Amino acid sequence: MDCIFCAIANGEITSNKVYEDEEILCFHDLEPQAPVHVLIIPKKHFESLEAVTESAEDKELLGHLMSKVHVITESLGLENGYRLVCNTGEDGNQTVKHLHFHLLGKRKMAWPPG
Ligand code: AMP
Ligand code: ZN
Repeated sequence: MDCIFCAIANGEITSNKVYEDEEILCFHDLEPQAPVHVLIIPKKHFESLEAVTESAEDKELLGHLMSKVHVITESLGLENGYRLVCNTGEDGNQTVKHLHFHLLGKRKMAWPPG
């Protein structure tokens, strides 16, 4: 399978890592949309959030990912808040088809998003 985030997860492509453990990886986005813009991914390939199921394995993995957000935000100094975004599918403007959460911070976010 030709997936750029799988290649980043298995080390074939280098990334600027912020956090890594057995199950997840966080690295800086190549085209930052805020002073802090990192991506949090499960190392396991899911095409999008729509591919996540109610299996115990998927629940454990996604729960693990969410439980590490505060560890990542603390390490990035986002004590004033942040936005966590998961672009999904065509209408969500998802361009990389490997589940990822954008974590954006260090600027005031607008609402509604574009
Ligand atoms: P999305 O549009 O939600 O699918 O977001 C994909 C994100 O991945 C974009 O913000 C890109 O800038 C980012 N991106 C694509 N390739 C890389 C890469 N090799 N390293 C870091 N970020 C990347
Ligand atoms: Zn992948």
